[in-house]
Amino acid sequence: MRQMATVRRIDAIQPIPNADAIECAVIGGWKVVVKKGEYQPGDLAIYCEIDSWIPNELAPFLSKKEPKEFNGVKGERLRTVRLRGQLSQGLLLPLSFAFALPPTTSVDIVGTDVTETLGIQKWEAPIPAQLAGQVRGNFPSAIPKTDQERVQNIRLEEYLDDTYEVTEKLHGASCTFYLDTEGQFHVCSRNLDLKPDENNSYWKAAYKYGIEQKMRDLNLRGYAIQGELCGTGINGNNYQLGLEFFAFDVYQVGIGYWRPTARQGLIEMLGIRHVPVLTTMTLVHLTKEEILASAEGTSAIAPCKREGLVYKSEHSDKTFKAVSNAWLLKYE
Ligand code: AMP
Ligand code: MN
Repeated sequence: MRQMATVRRIDAIQPIPNADAIECAVIGGWKVVVKKGEYQPGDLAIYCEIDSWIPNELAPFLSKKEPKEFNGVKGERLRTVRLRGQLSQGLLLPLSFAFALPPTTSVDIVGTDVTETLGIQKWEAPIPAQLAGQVRGNFPSAIPKTDQERVQNIRLEEYLDDTYEVTEKLHGASCTFYLDTEGQFHVCSRNLDLKPDENNSYWKAAYKYGIEQKMRDLNLRGYAIQGELCGTGINGNNYQLGLEFFAFDVYQVGIGYWRPTARQGLIEMLGIRHVPVLTTMTLVHLTKEEILASAEGTSAIAPCKREGLVYKSEHSDKTFKAVSNAWLLKYE
């Protein structure tokens, strides 16, 4: 499970112009609005990231009306909001919520994952009928599930000294086409291997592009093509597409992820679309704020805001995402 709630040290407390009851706490790359005086710089607290599902008992004040329900738990989803003009992402809770006694060696607990202890989950959008499909099995264990860490959470200094491919992050559904080492072809959603089904969007895409045949023609046994499926009924379809697959990764069993340039070449050979490649760049001298600011912009595939950018190293598996705050405020 993703770490949604962790013990963190508050880096700074900043005033919010024209607000007397609230102020802004800075935790790594995140900013969250808190009640004035509740926290001091240097304090330890529990930081819950956006998309945490917070049980009602932990923070009843989050529910304006009746609490909603997710996986049988009453509560609320943390979204990106603006309060008195200040962007606020996530929630700070007192340390005492996770520890019966105040920890004596407090230094040691920074980073402790308290997601499960607090009954917090990662909120996921409900799966629409055309994506659900019949389950063939779990996601193949030989290949990694798609995911990127948010720039807010990384230790940026460990990433700066490298060159990155920058692609547009598309907002659809994660989709993996996999020809296993035995020659079986699999179509997978983010978490499941799906049975062939003409009414299922993932399989529809596989048929539309003739993916299986193309992978067999190039003898891609033991390869997975991973990408984003966009279109009707998928995650709001801001791009107003019919049904389109955009590849963003090639994984080779026993080898690992292909580097950006080689991957782009293979995707071209397969005759399928790649997510928009915006540039290749080094990150030297950049700050998290600058990286987040450059996530803002218009999509390269449709006249709408883009969800953000994904950075992938040219030399290693290092990768992270920067999601547009304007996009989060508008669509999430
Ligand atoms: P999130 O949707 O916030 O969980 O971000 C991770 C997901 O972004 C991945 O699982 C992919 O499905 C998706 N994604 C969309 N565009 C890209 C891209 N250009 N590179 C990598 N992943 C992407
Ligand atoms: Mn997504």
